Amino acid sequence: MSKLVAFAAIQGGYNIVQKAEGVYARALEKYGPDKKLEFPNTAYYLPIIYSLLGLPIKTLGEAKKALEVARSLLPPHIKLFNYLPFLGPLLDAGMAAILAEEVVEAIRYVEDPDFYYVSEDVDVEKGKIWLGAAEDSVFRKRGVQFVDGSAPGFAAIVGAAPSPEAAKELALEYQRRSIYVFMAANQSGTTFSEQLIEAGVEIGWNTRLVPFGPDISAAVFALGFANRAAMAFGGVKPGDYKKMLLYNKDRIFAFVNALGEVNAEWAANAAGVVNWGFPTLADTDIPEILPTGVCTYEHVVANVPIEEMVQKSVEVRGLKTTVSTVDVPVAYGPAFEGERIRKNDVFVEFGGGSKTVTVEWVTTKPMDEVEDGRVEIIGPDIAEVKDGKLPLAIVVEVAGRKFQEDFEPILERQVHHLLNYAQGVMHTGQRDIGMIRISKDCVDKGFTLRHIGVILHAKLHQDFGAVFDKLQVKLYTDKDKATKIRDQARKVYSTRDARVENMTDEGTETYYSCTLCQSFAPSHVCVVSPERTGLCGAYNWMDCKASFEINPTGPNQPIEKGETLDAKLGVYKGANDFIFKASRQAVENVCFYSLINDPMTTCGCCECIAAVLPECNGIMTVNRDYTGETPSGMKFSTLAGTMGGGNQSPGFVGHSKYNIIQRKFITGDGGLKRLVWMPKALKEELHDRLLKRGEEIGMPDFVDRIADETVGITEEEIKPWLQEKKHPALEMEGILG
Ligand code: SF4
Ligand code: ZN
Repeated sequence: MSKLVAFAAIQGGYNIVQKAEGVYARALEKYGPDKKLEFPNTAYYLPIIYSLLGLPIKTLGEAKKALEVARSLLPPHIKLFNYLPFLGPLLDAGMAAILAEEVVEAIRYVEDPDFYYVSEDVDVEKGKIWLGAAEDSVFRKRGVQFVDGSAPGFAAIVGAAPSPEAAKELALEYQRRSIYVFMAANQSGTTFSEQLIEAGVEIGWNTRLVPFGPDISAAVFALGFANRAAMAFGGVKPGDYKKMLLYNKDRIFAFVNALGEVNAEWAANAAGVVNWGFPTLADTDIPEILPTGVCTYEHVVANVPIEEMVQKSVEVRGLKTTVSTVDVPVAYGPAFEGERIRKNDVFVEFGGGSKTVTVEWVTTKPMDEVEDGRVEIIGPDIAEVKDGKLPLAIVVEVAGRKFQEDFEPILERQVHHLLNYAQGVMHTGQRDIGMIRISKDCVDKGFTLRHIGVILHAKLHQDFGAVFDKLQVKLYTDKDKATKIRDQARKVYSTRDARVENMTDEGTETYYSCTLCQSFAPSHVCVVSPERTGLCGAYNWMDCKASFEINPTGPNQPIEKGETLDAKLGVYKGANDFIFKASRQAVENVCFYSLINDPMTTCGCCECIAAVLPECNGIMTVNRDYTGETPSGMKFSTLAGTMGGGNQSPGFVGHSKYNIIQRKFITGDGGLKRLVWMPKALKEELHDRLLKRGEEIGMPDFVDRIADETVGITEEEIKPWLQEKKHPALEMEGILG
């Protein structure tokens, strides 16, 4: 290893720690030691310091310890000049820099609260382009993808490309491979993020191009994200730094691309991330650090031409990526799923604001009526559109000996993401309330209506080919014909809905398991019954049944519920036996309808969490999107942080939004009448269904008796209001028995 790079990195470590100490001293003087120090909406404190040192820093005063550790990690000056060919001191200096930087970034949240935009999306018009630390809600949604493989890894890009066009090319190449790009630092004032904006690329978590911050210290947001993944999904305990770093090296496929001149502080960060097993690739001539066993490959690779950066990076990090191949003239893959198309960029819009008819419908046909791969357009194509609007009925006709009607909705639900994967195509909604936008750029590249059919045919075959033989797509843009199709489809939708809604748990002998989340919560088992959907909201009983038939050895297995051990709490012998085995003996008894007695486990991706409120003799529930305080004394993120991971937590339970209005919702604890608080937005979202349920339980105005954050966020605040509204929970038997 070159003495020079070691010298630069160690010097950089000194600079960073010293600067941080200065920033800290000034902040301490100004705000005092009790000033709150935190990243927004997270249960992981300052995640690098928390995960590696086990220090849950909550105040400015407590951060002192972290800086002391950083200082102590700096190798003695004296060694610099007879530097040994060992990585140790270099890695320590890098680690010191990173710990110090995390403190600096946390102080920035105190000093300049508007510097970072607490959001999943940037707002370019308002100049809010730096996202800083991801809130737990964003982290969970995205972090899961690193664990389940839908995101193969992340590239941390520091600095700036030679030009905005070069930046765009590089980013697109990563997007094509579904790799996240985390951006930090600037090169003489130019940032990669701003280059992308200039080149017209949409940035933010939704397009996997994440602008953390303009300084090198913002690199801590990428590392903190990785460490949170290790804690949340890998079960690594805070303070177990060895396991933490090993988890990252083995499971989080990340690397750094340093673009432009590498100064001492960058060198220190590059040395720091070697601790995580993340290599750095630079486009300039910096001294390389060759393998010594920490990374299984080169630590620092120099002189990589920017056009070869992606290829070389994946190679060095040993990453396997695939580029989706669908025969369309635009880029295609999950990184484009969240891309939005603004009004001015729209070439044509179906449904939505254009108020034209849209519908998507998967339907079964006899074998001889389907010609596999056929795409038929009935009405004008995109190029002929004049005022930017068209109706669109997408009919996917499927035939196959193994195909069943129950599979139709499963395939239908894929339309949303499959179309969204195409760059320049945006899809929202489903069934007859969808909206599709196709951008001008996309049409310029040669995209036509036929490509919608091409995508659906290719991808549905790829993912569900086992259950059907042939598939053809008909696209109706003729207004009358599209309307006729919609009316036909509506009838089918209501038959389908009635089928599940009319089913009861009592009337069904077979429930289904879902163990999809065991990849990160090893003891978690969801049991899905007709009246209790999966807690993530994505799987109802019918979905699980179809999924089992499509993939008989997959995560959804039938469970004979067997003898009913307790009808009120919902305890079934067969289900218990299954759960005991599938949780690897971690869970023995589960009550389907209770959060007080042996509730179902929660894996971390639940849509809502319910908690007992003893003072109000009831329960509250909070959904993931609500980031405020709740009467349980905990925000959603804290609740999820303490109970996720596949544990049973009596007094709490994870559930789907839809579950709230299912008839069996916590009936073991008194049912819906126990619900005393929920966020306003959730109440509004479920309003009509809550009204209906209110009528069913003989209390038509029940929904108006549920408190929300406008009434209060503590039990003391809401109780008088509940009394005034005569909330039924107050009159029920004691909730804790
Ligand atoms: Fe399956 Fe439950 Fe995970 Fe949803 S939360 S994917 S139902 S295991
Ligand atoms: Zn889950």
